[in-house]
Amino acid sequence: MTTTVFRGGSVFDVHSAEFQLADVLIEDDRVVEVGSDLDADNEVDCSGKWVMPGLIDTHVHLMFPHVDLFRHAQTPFSYRFFQAIPSMAATLGTGITTVRDAGGADLGVKQAVVDGIVPGPRMQIALTLLGQTGGHSDDWMPSGAHIPLLPDYPGMPTSIIDGTDEARRKVREVLRAGADVVKVATSGGVLSPTDDPTHPHFGMDELETIVGEAAIQGRWVMAHAQATEGIKNAVRAGIRSIEHGIFLDDEAIAMMIEAGTWLVPTLVAPVGVVKAAEAGAGIPEASVRKAREVIEVHRASFAAAVDAGVKVAMGTDSGVTPHGLNLDELPLMEAGGMLPADVLVASTLGAAQLMGWDDRVGSLDPGRFADVVVTHRNPLEDLSATRDSISGVWKGGIGVA
Ligand SMILES: [Zn+2]
Repeated sequence: MTTTVFRGGSVFDVHSAEFQLADVLIEDDRVVEVGSDLDADNEVDCSGKWVMPGLIDTHVHLMFPHVDLFRHAQTPFSYRFFQAIPSMAATLGTGITTVRDAGGADLGVKQAVVDGIVPGPRMQIALTLLGQTGGHSDDWMPSGAHIPLLPDYPGMPTSIIDGTDEARRKVREVLRAGADVVKVATSGGVLSPTDDPTHPHFGMDELETIVGEAAIQGRWVMAHAQATEGIKNAVRAGIRSIEHGIFLDDEAIAMMIEAGTWLVPTLVAPVGVVKAAEAGAGIPEASVRKAREVIEVHRASFAAAVDAGVKVAMGTDSGVTPHGLNLDELPLMEAGGMLPADVLVASTLGAAQLMGWDDRVGSLDPGRFADVVVTHRNPLEDLSATRDSISGVWKGGIGVA
């Protein structure tokens, strides 16, 4: 048994959304107490610093170091797993100690982190993105060739389904392969070459089958949902979170509030696609054009959702943008109308609630994992400076950055 106290910092209380001077006492991998004059075997001097629970990104792709299809096509298959090592380290380094991997990471990646073989964030994995023929996960190119972001392999089920029978079987397959959450595309997207982000995908019968089958095994569904109708269908089907949510209208927002659906905005993602293309990445021209078109409407949709009081959890789509720059999302959330303190809650407690993990992460309440981020600037004064002011990161009481 080892105890450590983080002494004398301003500690973020996710419940009041305020920083208050306090000590944080941890024992082994757990938080014991937040209070004053706490004693321990070891001490981390946090005077003049800010202390937060480990941050959570609810939409990352740890297996994608970039989205350049032509580079992916020339990368040896197993090399991709080694590439995930620095991506996970960069994620930890920016204070993100828990993620929801929205496609790409498989059970082996998760297990290797759990077993301590490679450092990485705690994770829930979706494995793959279920989509319809011609949908966001269809890797068919106009040439007739298939160019996937990541090929199918043992442990990574194929992702195209049409009809309720295939939907039911596929949900069972991804859960068998270790998915903690089922991801489905209820609309087209930006990075896929042949679909349209304004079109809804899947019929209600297919979506209800997916949600129902996942629920039988105690899992939730997350939806890549950009089109207005695709968002509404996802909410109607009982899907837990809307990822991206680019084309929201008043009715969609009202439906989300009524159903308690979460929004994971990923505001940095389309900006990242445009930046990557400008830097010379091999991204289909149609995808770059779509990214440019959605940036403004995405921001307006997010602002309207915030104004109406939709529940928001921080998520970035990192992989589309470089890993380790996750916190670039925070000032964009503030620009959309969130108070800086609320942005931090959405990046801690809110994200943990979305994942159903608020009993273990997302706060410094007693019994939670001792995941701690210390910064040398007050995040509330300038969220955009947070990523450059990380002075230490602990996961389960062990320093990781
Ligand atoms: Zn994504």
